[in-house]
Amino acid sequence: MTVERSPVVRAEVRLVALPLLRPFVTGFGVTASRHTVLVHLVDEAGNEGWGEGPALDHPYYLPETAEATFSVVRDFALPLALGTGSLDPGDVAASMLRVRGNGFAKAAVEAAFWTLGASDARVSLREMFGGPRTAVPVGESLGITATVEQTVDEAVRRLAEGYQRIKLKIQPGWDVDVVAAVRQAVGDEVMLQVDANAVYTLDDADHLARLDEFELACIEQPLGWDQLLEHAELQRRMRTPICLDESLRSVEHVRHALDLDACRNVNLKPARVGGISASLQIAEICRQRGVPLWCGGMMESGIGRAGNLALCSLPAFTDPADMSPASVLFESDLVDPTYEVDPDGTIAVPAQPGLGFDVRLDRVEARAVQRAAVPTPVG
Ligand SMILES: [Mg+2]
Repeated sequence: MTVERSPVVRAEVRLVALPLLRPFVTGFGVTASRHTVLVHLVDEAGNEGWGEGPALDHPYYLPETAEATFSVVRDFALPLALGTGSLDPGDVAASMLRVRGNGFAKAAVEAAFWTLGASDARVSLREMFGGPRTAVPVGESLGITATVEQTVDEAVRRLAEGYQRIKLKIQPGWDVDVVAAVRQAVGDEVMLQVDANAVYTLDDADHLARLDEFELACIEQPLGWDQLLEHAELQRRMRTPICLDESLRSVEHVRHALDLDACRNVNLKPARVGGISASLQIAEICRQRGVPLWCGGMMESGIGRAGNLALCSLPAFTDPADMSPASVLFESDLVDPTYEVDPDGTIAVPAQPGLGFDVRLDRVEARAVQRAAVPTPVG
């Protein structure tokens, strides 16, 4: 029996500023503030759906920027989704397949339909995904600092706070020495990994292989974002498992990378791969193949993190997530109360129906720099 759902009567997209507490330094440069894209749906019964497309402000991570995501949602993704007349997230995802790339835009729209459905059914996203885990282990990602000592201190501090894994951003001139110092300070038992954000080339293979002695859980995205074959070659030349991030932008990319042995560890950012449906498929592939899987972070607001936390409740996610609380990233979150890391290094998966968090519409409005309403079939 199909239960009649009330139709969407309001559909909006906003480009929202999220001021950072302090600049974040990676191989891409310095990020002092970020903008993100929010999709907001309201149905006739008053249920709400929220989705976030956390593209970055610049095109140095992936081609999409926050501004581009905003316009693709407004002009293509959301109109296609609403045009189906269906509220089923699978139908919504299928309707947007015509849009090539632009995973962040599609993810934002699809997530809004998932949370609208959860809100209507009075269940949590975790229950919708069927995940048994109620708390998600988390690690911390440390940017490049002025001195090695600063990074060592921060790693020690984060571990004392309960974080279950440390990830160091690396780049040429900031790799073997900082990894050696942190490994020395934290001991052999701590889960340690590095993320190069695509700044090395295959010419660095011998240098990168020096990281093998530090028993890292993985080296994330050492080479170019479109270099699957080169990653496979590098994996033949080093023992540390390669993890891919930027290179994995669809279910197919994950399958190809694993088939080529271009990676042995998967960083899944749900918005990067085009949304929740694709994420569920990737999680199943990794589970079937026994590949370590973990959820990466895009510096989402709590709106985006809600879906990520719910996905991480699935057993396929074997390794700690990158999930810094909003309180360490932003002046304030867009959800209130926001989530925090518990002393045991986990974050509780929201149990509340719908998105799982209460959105502060006043903050969303105050920070919106662009907004658009998209016509709905009804309303
Ligand atoms: Mg990364």
